Amino acid sequence: MANEVLINCPVCGSPALADKLHVQDKSVSQETFTIQQCQACGFQFTNPRPGAASIGKYYESDAYVSHNSGAQGLINQVYKVARHFTVRRKVALITKLNGGRPGNLLDYGCGTGHFLAGAKKAGWQVTGLEPSDRARQDATERVGQAIQQPEALATLPAGSFEVITLWHVLEHVHTLNETLDQLIRALKPGGQLLIAVPNVDSLDAQHYRQDWAAYDVPRHLYHFAPATMRELLARHGLVIKQKLPLALDAYYVSMLSERHRPAEQAGGLLSVLRAGFKSNSYAGQHDGQYSSVLYVAERPA
Ligand SMILES: [Zn+2]
Repeated sequence: MANEVLINCPVCGSPALADKLHVQDKSVSQETFTIQQCQACGFQFTNPRPGAASIGKYYESDAYVSHNSGAQGLINQVYKVARHFTVRRKVALITKLNGGRPGNLLDYGCGTGHFLAGAKKAGWQVTGLEPSDRARQDATERVGQAIQQPEALATLPAGSFEVITLWHVLEHVHTLNETLDQLIRALKPGGQLLIAVPNVDSLDAQHYRQDWAAYDVPRHLYHFAPATMRELLARHGLVIKQKLPLALDAYYVSMLSERHRPAEQAGGLLSVLRAGFKSNSYAGQHDGQYSSVLYVAERPA
């Protein structure tokens, strides 16, 4: 199936697009994709890209851990331990953002449902949407309630959630602006939208360049940075209130990136620890340019 080509920047609409980098899909297809950058607003995105109807085959790999609870291997073990800690941190964060009490939560792209299950246990009323059949079945079982397809978003009552979360999800969404509009509609006025995505301006992105694992083409359609996320959300009437670090991601992404490098350049654990530590230190000194950033925005009351 032919790939689709975007003629205009998905953020600002400018037709002035230039090739920025060529990146190979090293985890599934081995195909090479082009990342383009908008010359007006600086937004970077995969272009051309597989359309919504043909992207499914690029997810068909056991390596795609967020869709597969049973995956093995050292990296996946590390991921699972990290996930256990981050679920607790995430639930504590949304509870704090909601004034210290649970409320109504929508997790858009909930994967296998670990975060939703943790939030439900902490007293949140939860709703989850997930496109992958396999992950959705897992999540339905884990959370103990039906998880629906993302299309159900349009049918959710307006203004019904205090918090909506997208943990490494927005970079996968073909209908970027339409989905954002629907998410904002589902938020209560004064409700919080939390968007976690990789940061293409982080030090680990600069260090690994075309081997940076968080490019993850063609599954990642967009390669956000704080400036372009600010621009995107502003166009939807939202202001970013907080930018929080996801410090573990620097290590996880560096570990995957070392494996993407040519064998003669690939480093071991020490290289991973050094790259992860340096990335977080850099971010601490450069306005929060972490490997991945969690953006917190509020729907105006
Ligand atoms: Zn643009």
